[in-house]
Amino acid sequence: MFSTMQDQAVQELHFCQQGSLEAVIAIHNLTLGPAMGGCRFIDYENEAQAVTDALRLAKGMSYKAALAHVPQGGGKAVIMKPKGSFDRQQLFKQFGRFIQSLSGRYITAMDSGTQVQDMDDIRSQTTFVSSSSNIGDPSPATAQGVVLGMLTAVQFQLGQNMQGLRVAIQGLGHVGMALAKQLHKEGAKLIVCDVDAQKSQWAQQAFDAEVVPVDDIYRQECEVFSPCGLGSVLNEKTIPQLQCKVIAGSANNQLATDAMGKILHDQGILYVPDYVINSGGLIFASGRFRGLSAQQIGHEIFRLKDTLNKIFILSKNKKLASHQIANAMAEQVLYGANAHNINAEMQEAV
Ligand code: NAD
Repeated sequence: MFSTMQDQAVQELHFCQQGSLEAVIAIHNLTLGPAMGGCRFIDYENEAQAVTDALRLAKGMSYKAALAHVPQGGGKAVIMKPKGSFDRQQLFKQFGRFIQSLSGRYITAMDSGTQVQDMDDIRSQTTFVSSSSNIGDPSPATAQGVVLGMLTAVQFQLGQNMQGLRVAIQGLGHVGMALAKQLHKEGAKLIVCDVDAQKSQWAQQAFDAEVVPVDDIYRQECEVFSPCGLGSVLNEKTIPQLQCKVIAGSANNQLATDAMGKILHDQGILYVPDYVINSGGLIFASGRFRGLSAQQIGHEIFRLKDTLNKIFILSKNKKLASHQIANAMAEQVLYGANAHNINAEMQEAV
């Protein structure tokens, strides 16, 4: 366990088992402020899988906050979905008390499997929660950032705007559907898929999108591939199928391994680092929690453009993959002079 924590540089791991609640909170780094990150409530095959998920995701949140100029540390919570029947409201209230016991070191928010009502139940026990109904769903802000990031990447890579460009969107959930709507407005031609056929049909009717089977999305001829469903979708099986020039989507942990980012770079595909392009949600959740105005939050999301341009330019000039540059920049913010111990070659580059 400790060696896994060390691998991800996670500082704290907290467990709670009470009634039907089996929860883990991972706190990666508190240098920039209290840790903030969503709470997952999904099926896990075993405890080890749940812990690994929490550790990996907490690290991603630290890096996301670092490059989004958000004064929060990285943290993530995972609740193992009980196998049998359970009282959902009681479970999330119990989880709220668990969060309260950490005295503000971790602030939770919505993630896969949780909803606003759950956040409200948590809020009945602790104030260390965002995306409750008084704060709102971060997804529109995430989608706003993804549109901006995609435009920035397309301008950099292809020297044009979205008019007439083909964008293949994988997953039409809270973020993917909002993204489709905005890209349709910008004049892009959409190719879409979702495991939920109703969502695809909706996009077909509303945005004149072409619907393709889920397994065919990778091989679509398009300028942009936008993963907005699951993680690890860029892997040895899918990358050889890709026909795109840019990858820009909201999903967390899109690269199955770091080596995949290098392969994309070598193939001349511009990969927009996931935790940078999808940081609008964190900017929103943290901003609202800290009492920023909508205008201030919008301004913070817009800064994403400069960060991405810096990553793209460094990646091109230094001949290093975009995710390597992004990681080195984040480590510089988090660890300062000590970052050299972590990744000397990359730190030199940024
Ligand atoms: P969501 O659950 O609302 O939507 C995900 C969609 O993807 C669903 O419609 C689902 O049916 C579909 N999907 C799942 N597997 C698929 C597959 N193999 N092929 C095609 N479609 C598939 O989630 P969301 O809030 O829209 O988030 C999308 C992604 O972005 C997630 O990976 C999430 O972690 C990430 N993200 C979301 C936010 C946010 O603010 N919502 C912020 C940062 C990152």
